[in-house]
Amino acid sequence: MKREFIAGLALASLLAACTGRPSSSPTSSTAKMTLADFQARAARFNNVISAPDYETSPTAVKQSLETAIANANAALDGVGRLKPAEVTFANTLGALDDLMLEPANTANRLNLVKETSRDAAVREAATEALKKFSEWSVGLEYREDVYAAVKAFADTKPALAPVEAKLLRDTLRDYRRAGLALPKAERDEVEKMRKELAALTTDFESNVNKARGPVKFTQAELAGVPGDFLAQEGIKTGDDEYTLMANITFHYLMVLENAKSEATRKKFQIVHDSLAKESNGPLLKQILELRSKIADRLGYASWADYQIEPKMAKTAATATKFLSDLKTGLQPKLDAELAEFRRLKVKETGDAGAQIHLWDWRYYANELKKEKYSVDAEQLRDFFPLDRSLNGMFAIYQKIFGVKFQQIEPPARWVDDLQLWAVSDARSGEPLGLFYLDLFPRDGKYNHFACFGVVEGKQLADGRYQRPTVAMVCNFPPPQPGKPSLMGHDEVVTLFHEFGHVMHAMLTRAPFMRYSGSNVERDFVEAPSQMLENWAWDKNVLDTFAADYRDPAKKIPGEILAKLKESDLAIKGTFYRRQLCFGLLDLALHTQVREGADVDPIALSNKILSETLLPVPEGTSFATYFGHLMHYDAGYYGYAWADAISADMASVFESSPGGYFDVKTGLQLRNEIYAVGGSRDPNVSIEKFLGRPQSNQPFLKKIGIATQ
Ligand SMILES: [Zn+2]
Repeated sequence: MKREFIAGLALASLLAACTGRPSSSPTSSTAKMTLADFQARAARFNNVISAPDYETSPTAVKQSLETAIANANAALDGVGRLKPAEVTFANTLGALDDLMLEPANTANRLNLVKETSRDAAVREAATEALKKFSEWSVGLEYREDVYAAVKAFADTKPALAPVEAKLLRDTLRDYRRAGLALPKAERDEVEKMRKELAALTTDFESNVNKARGPVKFTQAELAGVPGDFLAQEGIKTGDDEYTLMANITFHYLMVLENAKSEATRKKFQIVHDSLAKESNGPLLKQILELRSKIADRLGYASWADYQIEPKMAKTAATATKFLSDLKTGLQPKLDAELAEFRRLKVKETGDAGAQIHLWDWRYYANELKKEKYSVDAEQLRDFFPLDRSLNGMFAIYQKIFGVKFQQIEPPARWVDDLQLWAVSDARSGEPLGLFYLDLFPRDGKYNHFACFGVVEGKQLADGRYQRPTVAMVCNFPPPQPGKPSLMGHDEVVTLFHEFGHVMHAMLTRAPFMRYSGSNVERDFVEAPSQMLENWAWDKNVLDTFAADYRDPAKKIPGEILAKLKESDLAIKGTFYRRQLCFGLLDLALHTQVREGADVDPIALSNKILSETLLPVPEGTSFATYFGHLMHYDAGYYGYAWADAISADMASVFESSPGGYFDVKTGLQLRNEIYAVGGSRDPNVSIEKFLGRPQSNQPFLKKIGIATQ
C-alpha cells in the first residue's frame, strides 16, 4: 500500500490488496439486487454508497483533476480567510477533512484508471495528472494562511472529543514537521536543505541504478548453476566464457544459491557488496549528515526520531530496542541453522574445520532444502481452482467478520468481466461498501495483486456517512481449454493477505477520512493483513474449499503443506537475522552519523552486518548499494515490526475455541482494529484486541523458537 500525507490529511489511500471472484455461481446472492436497491437501503441507514464513473478519455482525466483541485483550492481559501475570532473545529479541521474528499477520490480513481484502463493514451494522461496532483499536494503543507487558521483554533484551547483532539494534534505535528512552526529565516534554511537533500538522494539512487558488476566465469567455475540459465543470450559471451552481472538480483541469487565453487561465490559476493562504492560512498555520508541537520533544526535528536515520530514505534529508541531484542531471541535459531549449513559444508568439502561464510549460507540453505524438504509446490495448484478458492475465502471472511457479500451489476466497467460486490453487515443489513474485482492479466494492466482505494470512507458534513469503495486488481492465471484457472499456493496466501485490506476499508467507522480504512500508521497497516496470511497455511481452513478440480472429493495432501511450511521454517533464523542487519544499520546510520561526529557510515554498517549475520568481506560497502536508505529511510525495521504484531494478533485466534474461524475474535478484530482505523493510537487498539500487553513471544514461537 502507498499513502501520501498532506498537511495533516491522509490522502488517496492507494491501498494494496486484492482478490477475485468467479464469473459463475455467486456465493451468497440469491435474489438479484441492483446498485440502486443497495443505495436506497444505505440511505435508510444514513449511509452513502458510491460507484463512480471512470474517466475514459485523456480530456476527461485532465478535467477531473483540474476541477477537483480548483474546488479544493477555493475551499482552502475559505479556511485561510477565517479571522481568529471565527475559527471553530468544524470550519478548520473538519473543513480540511471534508475538502480533501474530492481530490482524494479523484486521485484514487485516476490511479486506478492508470493501472487498469485498456487505452494507453488514457493511462498516460492519468500518470501525468497524478504527477500534477502530487505537486499540488506538496504545496498544501506550505499554505501559511491555512496553518494560521488551524493555529488560531488550537490557541482557543478547545475541549475536544478524543478523535478530534487527535486530529488537531496530528495536524499541528505535520505543520511542525514541515517547518511551519519555525521563524521565517530558519524555515527557509530547512527548505533549502530539503531541496539539497532531494537532489543528493536522486543522485544516490541514480548511482545505484547505474552500478554494474560484470564478472566473467568459465563453465567449470559455474558448476551447479542451471544450464538453461547459463545458455541465455547475453550470459554466454564466449566459448568458455559466461558474463554474469552482480547488479542483477536474479544473477546474484543464481550464483550464490547454486555455484558449487566457494571461490566463485566469494568473488561474486564481493563484487555485489562493492557496487556503487566509489560513487555513493562520499554521497551517503553527505546525505546522512544533511538529514541529521534538518532533524536538528526541526527539533529532533536524530533523523530516525524525525522519521519514526508519526509511526507506531514513535521513537528510534523503541524501534532499535525491538530489533535488538529480536536479535537476541533469534540467536539460538541462527546458531542451529548455521550448524546445519556447516554440517553440509563439511560433508561436501571433506574439511572437518570448514566454516560458514557470508557467501556460503544461501548455497547451503538451498542444499538443505533439497536434502530435507524436497517438495513440489506446483502439485498444490490442482487444489486451488479460482472459483472455488474465491468462494471459499469469501465464506470465511463473511463468517469471521459478520458480513454478507452480494454480487451486483457494475454501472460502469473498464473490462467486460469486471465484478462488483456489495458488502453489508450480516446482522443489521446495513450497507458497508463496495468492492470491484478485476481478475485476469491483460496488456497494460497493473501486474501484481493490489487493492486500490476508490472512494474514501468518512462522515460527511451533513451527518451522513460516505461508505468506502475499493477495487481488487488481480492477475490470476487465465483458464486454459479444459482447465479452470488454477492458483498457486503463494497466490492463495496473497489473496488472503490482500482481502484483509479490503476488509480494513469496508469495516471502517472512523469519522474522519484521515483515519478511515487503512489510513493508519505505516508500520501498522500491514499487520492485520499479514496476520490473515496464516489462514492460507491452515489445513482446516483450506479443507473448507481446496479440492482437486478433477475430483472435488480429494482434499489437499497434508504432508505437502507440512513440508512446505517446514522448509520455510528451516532457515527463518537466518532470514530474520538478515532482515535485522538492514533494520539495525538503517537506524544506526540515521542516529549516529551527524555533522561533526565524523562517523564513517560504511565502517558502521559493516560492523553491524558482521555482528548480526556473518562477517562481511574486507573492503566491501553494502550500504552504498542499499536503495532502501533513500526512500524507506529509518523505516526498514517496519517489516519485522509488522511480522511480530501480526503473529501476536494471530495468537488470539489460535488460542480461541473456534481457532481461525472464531467469530467472537473476528468481531473483536472488526471493532478494535478495523472499525477504529487511525482514530486512536494503534498501540491502544492492539492491546484492546489482544486483551493483554503486546508480546514478541508468539512471533518467536511462530518462527520455530521455543519460548517459555
Ligand atoms: Zn499488504
